[in-house]
Amino acid sequence: MVATVRMPRHVFYGKDSFKRVGEETALLGKKALIISDKIMEQLGYVTECKTYLEGANVDHVTYLDIDSEPTDQYVNASLHLLQNEACDVVIALGGGSCIDTAKAVVVLATNGGDISDYMNGKTIAKKKALPLLAVPTTAGTGSEATDVTVITNTTNDVKMMIKQPAFMPEVAIVDPVLTVSSPRGITAATGIDALTHAIEAYISRKAQPFTDTLALSAIQLIVENIRESYYNGENLEARGKMAYGAMLAGAAFSNSSVCLVHGMSRPIGALFHVPHGISNAMLLPAVLEFSQATCTNRLAHIGRLLFSDVADLNDEAVAVRVVDEIKQLCLDLKIPNLKGWGIDQQAFDLVLEKMAQDALTSGSPANNPRVPTEAEIVGLYKTCYDYQFLPQRTASR
Ligand code: NAD
Repeated sequence: MVATVRMPRHVFYGKDSFKRVGEETALLGKKALIISDKIMEQLGYVTECKTYLEGANVDHVTYLDIDSEPTDQYVNASLHLLQNEACDVVIALGGGSCIDTAKAVVVLATNGGDISDYMNGKTIAKKKALPLLAVPTTAGTGSEATDVTVITNTTNDVKMMIKQPAFMPEVAIVDPVLTVSSPRGITAATGIDALTHAIEAYISRKAQPFTDTLALSAIQLIVENIRESYYNGENLEARGKMAYGAMLAGAAFSNSSVCLVHGMSRPIGALFHVPHGISNAMLLPAVLEFSQATCTNRLAHIGRLLFSDVADLNDEAVAVRVVDEIKQLCLDLKIPNLKGWGIDQQAFDLVLEKMAQDALTSGSPANNPRVPTEAEIVGLYKTCYDYQFLPQRTASR
């Protein structure tokens, strides 16, 4: 097998790396479109970005209308602005929603068509995208280091996962200072998203040695720093390790894959507007229990890396311990189940089959160590609706 590795051309990370955005943009274009949102503006990040651009003599315009999970409408509106203003470089400043919108814009700007044309490889972007500098403000999606964009198609309520080399940013700037303002709920949701990326990349049928290294490092960094980032968000060291871990996790799954959790999570986001990281967390323990027997050795390897007191346990017991740790994390970070989030059971039951079909169509479940049938996915959705995150703590030797 020939394994492929794709990464951004340049990665800058660490405290104050954001200050590089002006000079790096100047190397790539003359007029930048900043794709961001109103919260980033309120926090002063957009003004800071403009200051750096002006210091490097780069002209700029802003699109700030992203409001959480991105849709084709945000993509079309910001593309329109880019074309009207003749911008030749794009900066995404924000969470995965801003970065994913920007990825779609830079590809459509040179390759044309509608973003839905690129779903499932119907159209392949052959022309080089406009240069994109991705500046994440959440330690979560890792989108700054992936060739993936996730955009909701508003005509059929499908969250399209589109993966092609052209969607890889040219530059990633990962400055943990920008994540310190992230409130607890967002820190929890985005942190568990990153953990899910790393775990799924590691147990995926598409895992390869390079992604194993990234994924295991990411799992350790995230598990060791997520609670501190949640409870003590000012701790820049913990935030830095989370930002780094999330980027590694993104690079891991982009070169391996995500699996069943992500496949099932996107339809929940599209239909019930649950933030992506929260819906991942709602599914992760139950889906790992479903998959456990087919990836015991890999889960046990994760457990032996994380826990110092499992040397005497067999692999099955260590795998159970890993799932227990994730359940405990969900409890500590106050992750609700689907019922607790307020999703009406009747409304949920009505769309179970659509969600299962959309999950399968995305292709992600086929990468899972245990490949589910449509009926098994429906069964898992039912299990997760009122799932209790109760650790077993009964691991046998
Ligand atoms: P997000 O971008 O939707 O942001 C969530 C909220 O947090 C927004 O209101 C935003 O303004 C706010 N926020 C962001 N940073 C903040 C900060 N530092 N301080 C205060 N508030 C802040 O959340 P996300 O989880 O980063 O991105 C989710 C999207 O990314 C989903 O659409 C998901 O499907 C997608 N995604 C993409 C990839 C990929 O590889 N392309 C991977 C995983 C997820």
